[in-house]
Amino acid sequence: MPPKENSQTELELLRHQKRQLEMDIDHLQKHDTLTGLMNRNAFMQAMDEALVELAALEGQAALIEIGIRGLPRISGSLSRHASDYMISSLAARLRFNLPRAALACRLDYWSFAIFIPKAASALEVLTTAKSVINALSLPVDWVDRKLTLEITAGVALSSADDGDAVTLLHNAGLALKSAMEKSGAGYAFFNPTLAQAARRRADIVQFTQEGLEKNWFELNYQAIYDAASGKLMGFEALLRLRHPEQGIIPPSEFISVAEETGVIQKLGAWVLAEACREAAHWPDDLTVSVNISPEQFQSSTLITDVHNALEKSNLAAHRLEIEITESTLLKDSDMVLAQLDALRDMGCPIVLDDFGTGYSSLSYLWKFPFSKLKMDKSFALALEDSPLVPGMIHSIINLARHLGLKVTAEGVETDAQLKLLRAYHCDLIQGFLCARPVQQADVPAVILRNFASEITRQPAVSDNPAAGTV
Ligand code: C2E
Ligand code: MG
Ligand code: MG
Repeated sequence: MPPKENSQTELELLRHQKRQLEMDIDHLQKHDTLTGLMNRNAFMQAMDEALVELAALEGQAALIEIGIRGLPRISGSLSRHASDYMISSLAARLRFNLPRAALACRLDYWSFAIFIPKAASALEVLTTAKSVINALSLPVDWVDRKLTLEITAGVALSSADDGDAVTLLHNAGLALKSAMEKSGAGYAFFNPTLAQAARRRADIVQFTQEGLEKNWFELNYQAIYDAASGKLMGFEALLRLRHPEQGIIPPSEFISVAEETGVIQKLGAWVLAEACREAAHWPDDLTVSVNISPEQFQSSTLITDVHNALEKSNLAAHRLEIEITESTLLKDSDMVLAQLDALRDMGCPIVLDDFGTGYSSLSYLWKFPFSKLKMDKSFALALEDSPLVPGMIHSIINLARHLGLKVTAEGVETDAQLKLLRAYHCDLIQGFLCARPVQQADVPAVILRNFASEITRQPAVSDNPAAGTV
């Protein structure tokens, strides 16, 4: 009977539309709308399922995470429209270069991942990673421009004990970070050392935050001497983290972490206050040098921090030397130069530390009137090894002389280095030969020893390097 048949067909149609709708919803839930690639949730779930199957077969899977080097600079220079176009183009190329049975996902706005469920060998995975890097590195045409991205890849292989998706993604992320940090190949494989370093970094993040609250930070002071007379001129304040169980942690481990997490702002203010408070107890002719991180120039508090430290301690501004490195001048130069001007107007001498490393652009020297150059310790260390270095040091000292700057040589460890530096009329000397950094409680002893050697007119070069006189 026709009416019944009709309603049957309509029902079928409705069922079909419902199924289609459900499939569409399912697709939308599992895929990224811009690129059509799997989204993170669906990808993680698919990886977990594949990894469980694989564990039973004792096979190996691989995850390749794709990232872009220098992303903040690039994304900041593109409109949303251009970024979306770039990402869609990259995704299309990624899909085209995907090995059979592999899954691809858009992990974050600018990052992708490829999961290879059955990886025959590390070499095969590397070949895939390289071909994807090459394909995605080709320029993308956008309006009348050709946009090229620097593509990097982090690769992690699954193993029996870290066979879940979260661990695999974490490991690939660590490998990607390592690939981003090193120049060259553009890819890195995960290895357990990366995980160890990441755990240590997480500990240091915790220690620096806790250290500020619990007073774990302390300053050591390393003496700086006049090269010709051997007279003590001042000290450099060097920060240490004294962990209750782990003992002393050096700045090479925690400064960059404190910079990344922003802790450096509070920590830097503490260093300034503490160094000025301590130096105010010293004889009036001694200076204290404080290292200021580039990040401290990025917040608005540096000038106030210096002002407060001087005011609270009653230390004369000319006794507080501010040490900066060239990397400080690379970031937003005008803003940094304005702050350096303000510091100099307050009366603080500005020292260019680690001179000769980094970019060593000589234009810094005439753009900003530094008081001193501190030659990086690599020069003193190489003095006796390379026939070229003495001439270079001589030239740096002459250049500084020409610009009216004093020169400090840091890292002086041997009598031979000291002799050469004196012959070239280097002004100031700092290094293990003269004095190692000492704890605050030992500073008076260094000052007294220097005073005693001055009044007894001892020879300028000490027989005992540990004695604290040049
Ligand atoms: P820097 O400012 O160039 O300090 C000199 C570093 O060389 C110190 O290392 C010092 O102990 C070491 N040194 C001195 N004489 C010799 C020597 O004869 N031979 C050798 N091999 N090394 C010598 P330290 O204390 O580990 O500090 C390393 C770096 O950490 C400093 O380099 C500075 O860049 C940074 N730093 C230290 N304290 C602070 C701080 O309070 N704030 C900031 N932002 N950075 C700091
Ligand atoms: Mg320094
Ligand atoms: Mg230095």
